[in-house]
Amino acid sequence: MQREALGGTLVLGGGFAGGYVARQLGRHGATIVSPENFMLYTPILPEAASGTLEPRHVVVPLRMMCPHAEFVLGRAIALDLEHNRVSVETESDLLSIGYRNLVVALGAISRTLPIPGLGEHGLGFKSLADAIYLRNHVLRRLEAASEAATDAERRRELTFVFVGAGYAGVEALAELSDLVRDAMRYYPLLRATPQRWVLVDAAEKILPEIPQRLGEYAAAQLQSRGVEIYTSTTLEGAEAHAVTLSGDNRILTSTLVWTAGVRAHPRLAQLGLPVDERGRIRVDQTLRVEGRDNVWGLGDGARVPNTATPGQFDPPTCQHALRQARRLAKNLSSGASRPYRYRMLGQVATLGRYKGIADVMGLRFRGFPGWFVTRTYGTLGHPQRLADEG
Ligand SMILES: Cc1cc2nc3c(=O)[nH]c(=O)nc-3n(C[C@H](O)[C@H](O)[C@H](O)COP(=O)(O)OP(=O)(O)OC[C@H]3O[C@@H](n4cnc5c(N)ncnc54)[C@H](O)[C@@H]3O)c2cc1C
Repeated sequence: MQREALGGTLVLGGGFAGGYVARQLGRHGATIVSPENFMLYTPILPEAASGTLEPRHVVVPLRMMCPHAEFVLGRAIALDLEHNRVSVETESDLLSIGYRNLVVALGAISRTLPIPGLGEHGLGFKSLADAIYLRNHVLRRLEAASEAATDAERRRELTFVFVGAGYAGVEALAELSDLVRDAMRYYPLLRATPQRWVLVDAAEKILPEIPQRLGEYAAAQLQSRGVEIYTSTTLEGAEAHAVTLSGDNRILTSTLVWTAGVRAHPRLAQLGLPVDERGRIRVDQTLRVEGRDNVWGLGDGARVPNTATPGQFDPPTCQHALRQARRLAKNLSSGASRPYRYRMLGQVATLGRYKGIADVMGLRFRGFPGWFVTRTYGTLGHPQRLADEG
């Protein structure tokens, strides 16, 4: 079946980048194609995993967020650049949607490595389903521990290994350890069993995105709570009840959480657009795909040059995706070609309930003030807030 994009703009992907482009285009209209009818607000996904927040608070329906856009639940599967059409697979149909301007924002997927056992035993942490699964998995470990026949088994069930010490891994570990600590009041028999929370990263330090002093504070905070941190360390293998780290360090555990990075969505390479060695679409300073007049790319799936940081490309964060989306929507609605420019105001991260670190406009906060700043600054762009604003 053939149809045309609303207002001439077709947006592929309803995440931070695509969702905000469609929202900012406002009455100009757009058609969004995405396999989910909601946008996931990932910075608070760890809180959904721990149960501090309800899952419904982490998502916002795209129809609510983008009231002037049209929404198609489906996946882009092919692109005909010559005739300006995209093939979209929906639950019941194959659509061909025509466009004047195409915005490609398919984001990234978890990057897995060919490590023996990782595919079978590693748990991902990227989607709402992952967060809910992880929460249930951790709570099931407490049940398994209380039924364990031996002390060794009990210790194994209360050992949790997280590989990848970026935002997702650190925040998920901190939140879930708070969840387990709180749940312990219902498991009196387990209180005497020591828990192990292990954080592993191949890099030299945790949270490489934030300034060194704050990163060191975060590491010290986690260590004071008993978290074992292994930097410059890699995962070598995983089994159902054990992981092996470099240096022949074998840890008995039934929980391996893998948050060691993302890679551009593989569909991007299949669409026939120019991509770099990491599979990201190559775009110029106005977010225009190299060699194309009416195709635009942004977000985690694009290699975006930033005129505020010459020679560097934007990191995969929602702060950047949001600012790129604003620039692109302004250019598309005004017909201008102004270059994208964004200087980050700060970085924030939570370290469990009421604890956090923040570096905003040169001011550094830790502990409760850090958490407070994280939760106010970090949710400025929350789609629910934006949707409420109308
Ligand atoms: C657990 C976690 C915590 C994070 N925490 C932070 C944080 O605290 N701060 C921060 O700045 N960043 C954080 N990030 C990173 C942030 O989520 C990303 O940078 C941001 O989501 C990128 O936006 P995007 O639109 O490019 O990709 P996404 O938000 O991933 O959106 C991509 C969209 O494309 C859709 N799609 C995929 N395939 C197709 C297809 N074939 N056709 C149509 N649509 C398709 C997807 O369903 C999705 O809706 C976190 C990420 C994770 C996973």
